[in-house]
Amino acid sequence: MIGRRIYMDYNATAPLRPVARQAAYSALETLGNPSSIHAEGRSARRLVEEAREHIARLANTTASNVVFTSGATEANNWVLGADWKTIFVPLIEHESVLAVARAAMQRGVQVVALPSSRRGETDVTQVADYWLRGHASAEPALVAIQLANNETGVLQPVRETASFCRQHGLAVHVDGVQGAGRMAIEFDELGVDTLSLSSHKIGGPMGVGALIMREDCRLSPLMIGGGQERRRRAGTENVPGIAGFGAAAEEALAEVGRMSSLASLRDRLERGVKQVTPAAEFIASNAERLANTSAIAVPGISSETLLIKLDLAGVAVSTGSACSSGKVGSSHVLTAMEVPTDIARGAIRISLGWQTSADDITAFLEVWKEIAVQRKRAAA
Ligand code: PMP
Repeated sequence: MIGRRIYMDYNATAPLRPVARQAAYSALETLGNPSSIHAEGRSARRLVEEAREHIARLANTTASNVVFTSGATEANNWVLGADWKTIFVPLIEHESVLAVARAAMQRGVQVVALPSSRRGETDVTQVADYWLRGHASAEPALVAIQLANNETGVLQPVRETASFCRQHGLAVHVDGVQGAGRMAIEFDELGVDTLSLSSHKIGGPMGVGALIMREDCRLSPLMIGGGQERRRRAGTENVPGIAGFGAAAEEALAEVGRMSSLASLRDRLERGVKQVTPAAEFIASNAERLANTSAIAVPGISSETLLIKLDLAGVAVSTGSACSSGKVGSSHVLTAMEVPTDIARGAIRISLGWQTSADDITAFLEVWKEIAVQRKRAAA
């Protein structure tokens, strides 16, 4: 027993940063509708615009390209749900992308699923195969791609995708949720059309996010009404949420250059697990992945059992994606990677972040050892 909770589920949600809490509190205390022209309105407007600057910096773009939404699910739905004739979508995308692609398919849109390699990287060469041969080439066409996968942390070939698409006139949407604050995002330089972000994954409040869109992006407004967000998403802004998101983005951006220290914590954790449980497998550990994520499986022990044992001992991790972790069954990401069933059934995801310390890793390994000893005893 470690006598305290250790949170290792940052890919599901990150603990709220004190700066974000403070910014959201002060915004709650700020009277005024950002659309009002009196002094009160202008104070609220200032909070929104300051946050917009921080989000723009996080994605290396200009503030006018940032549209606030209720989260990344909304941003992904907005883009995927637009009037496309062809959509290319990786099998390992998040449900907020996949579900919309499936709905589009039902409406008669041609949807091409992009497979994953065993290492967890999407095979984007298939876009060129289909497009250039005219098998799936009705315009307008969209290619969806993640910056990094939420279950494995594997970085996806965004640059390669963007360069093909720019040459051939396809639009590109990037789900940037898991990459934000963990790697540099070069929105302008990549030349992609849209990119979604989520506040709570970088230590901001829940229920707020953004869609970054190129100036010439012709996406129809998500909501019409009061004309907020430059007529792209109407509705009075979630000022406290946005202010918290902006403060979190500023701090998260400063951490991007320090990811190697998080990677050493993750590597220490993996080495420790391997020492205690030599049979443990580290999914996609040979691929280029985020510094904070580790997908671990122990053959012969189910992920639910492992998760519960860890939880009872004070450690919070998840099985697969948190949004679907209530469901039992193999993760669609691991299935797409053709991870053998006995490994996929045992896979847990450990994800670290801004508050993770070396002591957390030590405590985690103590718990891991205890669980291994208990299992050995039970098997004897
Ligand atoms: N995309 C990815 C890759 C995610 O991990 C998540 C959150 N699980 C989302 C989108 C949805 O983000 P939000 O919670 O802001 O709707």
